[in-house]
Amino acid sequence: MPQIQIEDFEIKTLDNSLDKNLNARSNFDSLVEATYEMAKKILPFLARRKIPLTPENYRLFYDYFLLLKPDLSKKIDQLLDMGCRFTPEDSDELFREFYQQADEYRAANLEKVGESMTRASETLNQNLGQSLESATHYRAVLADTASRISLTQMEDPSLKYLVDNLLEETLATLSSQNDLADHLEKTRLLVSSLTSELKDQARLANIDELTQLFNRRFFVNRLTKILATAGEDQILSLAIFDLDRFKRINDTWGHNIGDKVLILCAKIIKNAVGDNFMAVRYGGEEFIVLCPGLDKSTAKALAENIRHQMEITQVTIRGQNIPVTISGGVAQYAPGDTTETLIGRADQALYQAKELGRNQVRDL
Ligand code: GH3
Ligand code: MG
Ligand code: MG
Repeated sequence: MPQIQIEDFEIKTLDNSLDKNLNARSNFDSLVEATYEMAKKILPFLARRKIPLTPENYRLFYDYFLLLKPDLSKKIDQLLDMGCRFTPEDSDELFREFYQQADEYRAANLEKVGESMTRASETLNQNLGQSLESATHYRAVLADTASRISLTQMEDPSLKYLVDNLLEETLATLSSQNDLADHLEKTRLLVSSLTSELKDQARLANIDELTQLFNRRFFVNRLTKILATAGEDQILSLAIFDLDRFKRINDTWGHNIGDKVLILCAKIIKNAVGDNFMAVRYGGEEFIVLCPGLDKSTAKALAENIRHQMEITQVTIRGQNIPVTISGGVAQYAPGDTTETLIGRADQALYQAKELGRNQVRDL
């Protein structure tokens, strides 16, 4: 039976994401001062209203104070009037409503910037190659001419002076070309590392930070694209999973441990599907596996295997064994299905699995 010490497990995974955060942050050094000013506004504001200082709330109120999203600010004003406590669920909802499109925009934008940076670096590379080539050619011609002159006319001192001078100048040009080449090469390296950083950023915009699975936005886009061109004979299934009695884990052990259980569940799913199928964190404690090419019964067997893996993984939290199980719902694409109807059917199957006692997979 696989055994997971949830606390050991957590340290590793959290360290990684922490590094990433820190790296990302160091890129925004110039914002530090403005951030500090903003913190002085946000923190007392949240404290006065007894709103929990979570990263999500911080981000929401950061944008609220900056007034960058007028709709969001208006909504927050309304919620404040209603005495909203900004629980994780409340913030989650605000994020869903106001940030999905922003993330999408950010990802697309980053991809675009990345592309143009790549093009710029390629142009630089080409120019560099050309200028080196012509300089080398120039030197060859000049050296050849010089040697011919020297053979025939070198007794004329003024001519010798001229040739020496020319050679000297050429060498100087060449060395400044080398400086230039050096400089261009450094620039090229910088540009190419920036490009890959931008690509990373674009990739991160598609990834759920906690579990490292694909996020909901990316998945919905992908599925919508597939279904837009799906023919009558399209074979595609999807499985949706939801942790059983997850609230209880949060309530008993705290949100942090809950997060680690989510990470564990994501790992089990990812292990089971490898690179064959897309594994997605669809919502808080909901996951989806998208299975193009699998019919319902095969997808159900896959889902059943994932459920089983979760069941037989012994989770130990602070020395105590905690049963962690998931329920699953499977549905297969039928002609006429949209993203919503297909996911809706899988969701209904999941609901049945819950009704029938959890820790099981149903299909519809
Ligand atoms: P059920 O078996 O019916 O699914 O019961 P449940 O307790 O899992 O269902 P419910 O929907 O009532 O609770 C889901 C909980 O998941 C509530 C919410 O606080 C928690 N949750 C959602 N997202 C996260 C997250 O990112 N981290 C943690 N730790 N908890 C989360
Ligand atoms: Mg749920
Ligand atoms: Mg649940």
